[in-house]
Order: sequence, then C-alpha cells, then structure tokens
Amino acid sequence: MADDRKGLGVTPQGEDFSAWYNELVLKAELADRAPIKGAMVIRPYGYRIWELLQSELDRRFKDTGHVNAYFPLLIPMSYLQREAEHVEGFAPELAVVTHAGGEELEEPLVVRPTSETVIGEMYSRWISSWRDLPVLINQWANVVRWELRPRLFLRTTEFLWQEGHTAHADEADAMAETLRMLGVYAEVARDVAAIPVVPGEKTPGERFAGAIATFTIEGMMRDGRALQSGTSHYMGTNFAKAFDITYQDADSTLQHCHTTSWGMSTRMIGAVIMAHGDDKGLVLPPRLAPYQVVIVPIGRDAEVALAAERLAADVKAVGVRVHVDGRDATPGFKFNDWELKGVPLRIELGPRDLAAGTAVVVARVGSEGKQTVELAGLAAALPARLDDYHDTLLARARGFLDARRDRVDTWEAFAARVTDGWADALHCGRPDCEDDIKAETGATPRCIPTSGDAETGTCIRCDAPSAWGRRVVFAKAY
Ligand SMILES: [Zn+2]
Repeated sequence: MADDRKGLGVTPQGEDFSAWYNELVLKAELADRAPIKGAMVIRPYGYRIWELLQSELDRRFKDTGHVNAYFPLLIPMSYLQREAEHVEGFAPELAVVTHAGGEELEEPLVVRPTSETVIGEMYSRWISSWRDLPVLINQWANVVRWELRPRLFLRTTEFLWQEGHTAHADEADAMAETLRMLGVYAEVARDVAAIPVVPGEKTPGERFAGAIATFTIEGMMRDGRALQSGTSHYMGTNFAKAFDITYQDADSTLQHCHTTSWGMSTRMIGAVIMAHGDDKGLVLPPRLAPYQVVIVPIGRDAEVALAAERLAADVKAVGVRVHVDGRDATPGFKFNDWELKGVPLRIELGPRDLAAGTAVVVARVGSEGKQTVELAGLAAALPARLDDYHDTLLARARGFLDARRDRVDTWEAFAARVTDGWADALHCGRPDCEDDIKAETGATPRCIPTSGDAETGTCIRCDAPSAWGRRVVFAKAY
C-alpha cells in the first residue's frame, strides 16, 4: 500500500473496506501518520474540512446561548480521582506527565482526556447563587487518549474536538440542555454533512464514565457499520458532588448543580469519508468541501486560462468556494484527482466551449453525466445546484440506511442483518446478554432511539422480558 501512494487508485470498497479507507485518507491528502504511533497529522485539505465543520457547529452553539472559553491542557491527577467512575473509565487511556522543569513533579499531571474535572473545579469557584445559572460554556481543544489500535480520524491518540460543559439549577433544565445539543448534532450531521443519523440513548454499558445518561447520534457507513458521531451526557449531580459545584437557591438553601457535557470531534471527518465515499474516492458534501467547484482549463490556450480565472471570480462572488486547476498535467489526471478528492462539481472549459460561450459541468455523484451549460448565468446558478447536490447525497445516504436497517424478531434474522446492517430488536437490557450478542455476532447496542414506538415483548437473544419499552438498534460499530 505504501508503495502505491503516488498512484490515484484505491482498493475497491467491496474488496476490502478497511484498506479502501486507509488508502483514501492518505491519497486524498486528508491526514498522515505522525512519528508517534497513534498520532495523526491533519493535512491542509483535511484541516479545511474540520474548519468548515467547526464554523457550522460554533455558529449553532452561539445561537443556543453558549460562549467559548479555554481551560488548561494539564490537569492534576487528584482531580480525576475525585469522581470514581470517571477515573476508572479513563485510567487505561491516560498520558501522565511526571517530570517537568528538570525535576520530578510532586503531583503527576494528566494530559486532558476530557475536561469535566478541571472545568468542574472552576465552576465551583464561579457559581454561588441561582442567579449565576445556567453556565453555558464550550471549549475548542485537543485531547489525548492513549490508543492501542489507532486509525486515522476514527481512533487517534490525540484528536481535536469541542467539549461543551454546562451547569444548571435542576435536572429538568440540564436534561433539556443535553437533548438540545443532541438535536444540534443531529442537525449538523443532516444539514451539513448530509448524513441521516439515528439519535438515541446509550445502554448503561456504553455510557460515558461518570454520566447518568449518555445520548448519541449514530450514522451508517457504506459497509453497514455504525459510527458514533457525537455524544451528549447528563451527569446528574455526580461531578457537582465531586467538585462541590453548589448554589444557593431562591430560599437560600444550598443545592448541587446538575451538569452536562457534549462533544463532537475530528472523528466526524471519518464519518463523512465512510458515509459517502465510493471506489473513485471521497464524495464530499458541499457544505464541508474545501473546494465546492473546481475549474479545469483544457489545453494551454492563454485565452482559456484567462476565461477560467474570470469564471472563478464570478463563482467566488456568489459565495462558492472555487479553485482553478492550472497544473501542468493532463485533463484526465486532473479529473481523476478531483474525483479522488471528492469535489462536488467540476467545470471543464476548453477553446471550443469558449468559442461557443459554454462550459461542461460534471457532478461527482448523480445521473446527469456531462452537461453543456451556457457560461452566462453559470456562476449564479451554482449555489442552488450545490444545495440540490447536498439533497442528492442525503437522499442517497437515507436510501442506503433504509435498505440495510430492519426490524427483526428472530435470532436468525438478527444475526443475518447485523453482518452488513442494523437490526431494530427488543432486548432484555442485561449487560451479560449484550456481551453474549457481541461474542456471537460482533454487534453491540448502538442506541435506544429517542423517537421509537413504544413496544414490549421478549429479548431477541434470551427470551427474557424486554427492557427500555422500545426496540434497540444493534450493529457492528467503529
Ligand atoms: Zn437478553
């Protein structure tokens, strides 16, 4: 694989999905492996996707009343130990600083795996009255979780994310916040990444360490596996008790705050790659595409080059991200390269087109093929065309999900469905039964969908009475 990195081809998905993914991340120049095992270098093309995702998320966080702040990278080890489940959950993944300034430290410092603890400590200092609530803060940061089986974007030792941390007077307000942010994630997945996700609650075995309830959005990748793409947690008063986050209520009684946290990370780029990509390479949703349109001038004609630049200026003026590919390479090479990189629309412009006052437009995905379009009015029509393209990708992904997600009522149907899709099944809720299903099929409970119909019966695996009052989505997952 490494020897073929100069070529543009990738292993077909149907042959080896995992090889397809690994080769594509490298060849599309999204990311590269870092000198430290498990770490990742995000290359400019991949980083631009992250910046676009960031700005879409950040705008929505601010629209829902949140503000950004920054907390330290290094956290005293004793902070993590204050919440028992939290430290137990994160202990195997921690990177710890024991020496600094040429000396052994009195207390080891943890490189943050997440920031509930240090933020909890600060909230205990900042909050004293019901008038201080709610506190709605988000942080954009890197975190470190030592990773033994790394995969670029999906599981890396260091990754980028945002972590929202909020404090509220009571459970109702904190739970409303938890679900509001789950809704923001589902909206960003659908309206920005063109991924139809299933929002739901995790079963206890998949909960965040220290949370009372964990909610997730799950997307289907093109091998039928699920990818957890964003999570939102209700912590109850667990962290408030560990960090003494209290307030005086209107009757001057001391109360513990109810807290939440929620995060989406660079893992979402992995979701975009695997939810839309095909054998030719990436298929980027327009709202996350570094270049939404690439213009390829055909031939070495100076007039064509000039016309391409003029067209690019018009395209830019309507707010579309555009690039003119003036490289000294054949058109065929350039077409393949931009297909590999998933650019939504390609415009080909040659001397004959120019003489006729037209250009050729080709969409990365869709049934239109090559379309000859009048140059006049071409730029103005692009924003709507890109919106249509987003809708096409979303509909395609939804069709794929619907075709591979079934309600199943027998163990045989369950086992068959989860080989390359999702099964909605009744489950008893017992952790050992979940383990048994995982051992037999590789599938795990992804979530109890927030919008499922009420239903009870017997467990798909062990015939015990079902729990949760509705069906659970099971799938193999990343
Ligand atoms: Zn069971």
